[in-house]
Amino acid sequence: MKKREKFDFENLLEHLPYGVLYLNDDKIVYINSASESILGLSREKILSKSIYSQQFSDKLKDTFRKLKDSGKTARLYEENFVNYFGKKYILNVHFVPVITKNINYLLLIEDYSFLKEVEKKSNEYSNIEKLSTLFASMAHEIKNPLGVIKGTIQLVEKQSLPLDSEALNIIISEVNRIEKVIQELLNYSNPQRVNEEYVNIHQILDKSIVSLTSLAKEKSVMIFKEYDTTLPNFLADPETLYRALFNVIKNAIEACSYNGKVVISTKVNVDLRYKSSTKDVNYVSIEIADNGEGMSEEDLKRIFTPFFTKKAGGTGLGMVYVQKVVLDHNGFLNIWSMPKEGTKVSIYLPMKGAM
Ligand code: ADP
Ligand code: MG
Repeated sequence: MKKREKFDFENLLEHLPYGVLYLNDDKIVYINSASESILGLSREKILSKSIYSQQFSDKLKDTFRKLKDSGKTARLYEENFVNYFGKKYILNVHFVPVITKNINYLLLIEDYSFLKEVEKKSNEYSNIEKLSTLFASMAHEIKNPLGVIKGTIQLVEKQSLPLDSEALNIIISEVNRIEKVIQELLNYSNPQRVNEEYVNIHQILDKSIVSLTSLAKEKSVMIFKEYDTTLPNFLADPETLYRALFNVIKNAIEACSYNGKVVISTKVNVDLRYKSSTKDVNYVSIEIADNGEGMSEEDLKRIFTPFFTKKAGGTGLGMVYVQKVVLDHNGFLNIWSMPKEGTKVSIYLPMKGAM
């Protein structure tokens, strides 16, 4: 019989992309270089040491303790392995028995850390995430009208005003809004459409201002209107526009200190007239300017990030909603802000179908 060629197993193990530890009882008697880099220790520091003295989890040590004399195989995930240098790993560890006079064990260690990235990515795009954002934004849209109702009732109560038709109208219209939001939630299975009709943008702005009267009064914030009365009606969704403008004006009032000032202005934007892809569509620009606390550059960058808020009771979804509504209308928006000086939100909407 041909003599079996001698094979350099040790050299093979050294080049294996898996960590290999060979254990005699609980003592580490061999370790390859992949193991060294996972553990973050040189073999001199590890050899003849007990597996129990290494930085493995209690779960791994217990598994080995139970397995040791059984001769069985096992596999487990070390989900939070932290090596000597503090580097984190996810490990997939196989326990392979090697039966000689006694039972020794070979530990095969695979680096599964890439799973974390995969998991993170899939979480980022998971439907659950999208759903929870949607629910939170719906809750926000219910909280706003509830705040208006509460504010109106408190104003009536505090100043012993009669609950007259003006106050009742505000309450009823806000209740209708909540009803509509809930309806939208129920309709969610259908993609959201823009329900277009001819709107008077000033009526929508006025409606938002009226809804925020009690908040403005409470903070003694003055609201000034500078409307371009020659603006034509145009096609837009009055409901979503109302909610978006409400959010922007509410932010402006909230940013103001006592005796602050909010200026709401509209005009046909002459500069954008020719930039539009459809020649005959002009843009209206709606500006909401406040002389409130303003924002730092970093905060301004995060204003459209869901849940970014600096307010105690804030949700950080208002501006996300504003951006969505403006984009749904094929418009765009621009924000100028300076700490301690104020903020100016400019919304540009194409005046679709305007005559
Ligand atoms: P929320 O009002 O619930 O905090 P928003 O999305 O409406 O959520 O706003 C996010 C954050 O952007 C606010 O918390 C605030 O820090 C900042 N912000 C928005 N509008 C203004 C403004 N007019 N002036 C200053 N900061 C603002
Ligand atoms: Mg807000």
